[in-house]
Amino acid sequence: MAEKLSFYDYIRHELDDIQSSGLFKKERVITSAQRARISVQTPSGSKEVLNFCANNYLGLSAHPDVIKAAQDALATHGFGLSSVRFICGTQDLHKTLESRLSQFLGTQDTILYPAAFDANGGLFEPLLGEMDAIVSDQLNHASIIDGIRLCKAKRYRYLHNDMADARRCCEEARRDGARFILVFTDGVFSMDGTIAQLDKLRIICDEYNALLGIDECHATGFLGKTGRGTHEFKGVFGKIDIITGTLGKAMGGASGGFTSGRSEVIQLLRQRSRPYLFSNTLAPNIVGATIKVLDMIENSTELRDRLMNNTRFFREAIQAEGFEIKTGEHPIIPIMIYDAVKTQALATRLLDLDIYAIGFFFPVVPKNQARIRVQMSAAHSQTDLEKAVSAFGHAGRELGII
Ligand SMILES: *Cc1c(COP(=O)(O)O)cnc(C)c1O
Repeated sequence: MAEKLSFYDYIRHELDDIQSSGLFKKERVITSAQRARISVQTPSGSKEVLNFCANNYLGLSAHPDVIKAAQDALATHGFGLSSVRFICGTQDLHKTLESRLSQFLGTQDTILYPAAFDANGGLFEPLLGEMDAIVSDQLNHASIIDGIRLCKAKRYRYLHNDMADARRCCEEARRDGARFILVFTDGVFSMDGTIAQLDKLRIICDEYNALLGIDECHATGFLGKTGRGTHEFKGVFGKIDIITGTLGKAMGGASGGFTSGRSEVIQLLRQRSRPYLFSNTLAPNIVGATIKVLDMIENSTELRDRLMNNTRFFREAIQAEGFEIKTGEHPIIPIMIYDAVKTQALATRLLDLDIYAIGFFFPVVPKNQARIRVQMSAAHSQTDLEKAVSAFGHAGRELGII
């Protein structure tokens, strides 16, 4: 009993540490569907705010056509399958979605997972062994880092987005006698909206006979002329060996992930990838709705065009208001405040003004790099954006930031 108590003491101590370092995460409770305008709970009830922190890039999270497709699939294919894919959890819908994703991404085959976290978690270990090398960007997503940890391949890390250092890693891996080399990077890095230099990475990979893999969670559905992703944006469509991504962001935002690539790779993942073998199949309504999402974005670029127009407008307007941003083209827009305390005060004041945006500070981002990160959506109207910019200006002047 005494031992047990000391365990709970230890847990409470850890929680206190998190609290005192200012890193305790709280969940804000939303009482509406996920949209540009959401209702959030407040101590006195609830209020409506303009939402600038969802990954709802295309505004599909509560789109009537997507909801209708989910309801249709629920009616025809049921609520759940109570099975993993290979026992009795594969419906015609799952096969259709896999082939539609392959077509969309320019690959041969695709395997669905319960989440992109699982796609990355189950990617490396089945494909590579101790004779092999994985070269990865130092700022890659946690799920990639965890996936690589589960694999016996030798690891090489390059400085964030540094092509000379990526080349150095490939050089070292070759010199160390690697059998296969896989270079893996986020297509888009979510803290800065930085878009990976896939054109340059492809050249480096070809030079060292390395494979190139990307995580497209912040790209699939909207980046590139027809929204196919970073490979389209960077002119290397059809030249990426492995693509992982999520259905939980632009593609409707429910949940689900995938890995896409050469058919033999996907076949081996179906045999050996543990999150696929030992975790439940994706619910039919998510699958049906995602097929509808693909119909919508393949038939028209209207949503991604609107998203990109919103992005251009906001990037210009917020700078004209006197704020500094990280330059770029992605709908993730970091508004640099640098000072953590001011960043927090600004986020709080913005919420008073009905603008919901999140501040990030150390250790989520480097020291003295505190920022408010806003994310554009196709669902934001011009008026929404103007209202946000003016609230930023108002609060920024009040707090002496601009
Ligand atoms: C969101 C995200 C994931 C996880 O996606 P889920 O489908 O929610 O598990 C993985 N990688 C990157 C880069 C992400 O941004």
